[in-house]
Amino acid sequence: MLNIVLFGPPGAGKGTQSERLIEKYDLIHLSTGDIFRTHLKENTPLGILARTFMDVGKLVPDEVTIEMLKAEVVLHSNAKGFIFDGFPRTNAQAEALDELLQSLSTEISIMLSLEVEEEELKKRLLGRAEVSGRTDDADPVIIERRISIYNKDTAPVKAFYQAQNKLTAIQGTGTIDEITHRLFTAIDAL
Ligand code: AMP
Repeated sequence: MLNIVLFGPPGAGKGTQSERLIEKYDLIHLSTGDIFRTHLKENTPLGILARTFMDVGKLVPDEVTIEMLKAEVVLHSNAKGFIFDGFPRTNAQAEALDELLQSLSTEISIMLSLEVEEEELKKRLLGRAEVSGRTDDADPVIIERRISIYNKDTAPVKAFYQAQNKLTAIQGTGTIDEITHRLFTAIDAL
């Protein structure tokens, strides 16, 4: 299996690039943010719980997120591989993902970390709010909180994969095509 962690701060381009990667490599795209938003729209108990965290830019608790992700992976256990987009966001999530994949006799192949500086992220998120209607993208205070939680809780996940020699940093600025090309090159070198 080809299992990719597509990593990076909010606004780094994970969703956009995931679309390209799933098409080329025939992978299942698991975006925890997208899955939460679907639950939110359908007002499921999980959606109602997740909303209280998402609306203010905080992380949904690990236990809840991990259980949801596990269920999605198991649903697609015959897949050629996965792109994990927006997951793992904490070391506990990374450990749980390793265990889950091990139980399926597979593992993470590579972590691709999109690197974009903060001012550019803020600009992108405010621009995205206009088209996506995402309230967490429209409010500068919430954007600030999401970036600071990324720096504190999520960025350390890079060291987790670095210790396994699986981390590849990718410059996340330039045209969408240029960034896609960098990602393809890193994957094809595996
Ligand atoms: P995203 O679409 O990846 O920007 O995620 C939107 C929001 O969903 C985040 O700000 C969190 O509140 C929640 N979320 C998404 N993925 C995770 C995760 N792996 N762990 C905890 N919360 C998450």
